[in-house]
Amino acid sequence: MRRVLPALVILMLSGCISTTTPPSAPIPQPTRASAPINPQQAQARFRQVAARIEPVAERECRRRTQGVNCDFLIRIDPDKNAPSNAYQSLDKTGRPVLTMTQALIRDVNNTDELAFVLAHEAAHHVQGHLARQAQNAAAGAVLLGSLATLAGTGPNDIATAQDIGAFVGGRSYSKNFELEADKLGTIIAHNAGYDPLKGALYFTRVPDPGDRFLGTHPPNAQRYYVVQATMAEIGG
Ligand SMILES: [Zn+2]
Repeated sequence: MRRVLPALVILMLSGCISTTTPPSAPIPQPTRASAPINPQQAQARFRQVAARIEPVAERECRRRTQGVNCDFLIRIDPDKNAPSNAYQSLDKTGRPVLTMTQALIRDVNNTDELAFVLAHEAAHHVQGHLARQAQNAAAGAVLLGSLATLAGTGPNDIATAQDIGAFVGGRSYSKNFELEADKLGTIIAHNAGYDPLKGALYFTRVPDPGDRFLGTHPPNAQRYYVVQATMAEIGG
């Protein structure tokens, strides 16, 4: 009885996570890959795109939030060996930092892709996803912890249920956060003068996470649909 509890509560939670399948759109294949560029060219291209994205991201941030630090610092990850990645964080003073690794700066095919990835990361900050994700993780842990208590399990089982709860809670909303960030990222990239439909072709080269229940990222075709729909909405 005790051993089946985690599986049971995951099933119970899964019912309230995903009820409909969001629409998706096929991602067109890029016509040809761009010529390879050297690290100096990649860094120059990054600085040029960052300088155009930053003021637009800051303006959208100020328009959509109150009391939030919107002074983005956009930087290249100093770790030369870090794998291809981009992420959003806050420094000690609460300043939002957007970081791209050197591998990703070389991996993108053009400035539209670079701009789209940066705009997407800026959107995570504007939409408060770091804090909301932490809240979801905490709420999931509390919910599963109480279910375990109700089921009359011992303290060890409750701790296990809390861990699983934090995991499910922390993952269950992040697909939605990714789609939200793709939507606002499309607006930011477009307003900065880049083409999000070309930029989002970056998805064709990253592994598609598919529609896994606990995957942190939505399938690429869903993400591309959001970009297309947003462009139709803003008349881009
Ligand atoms: Zn993201």
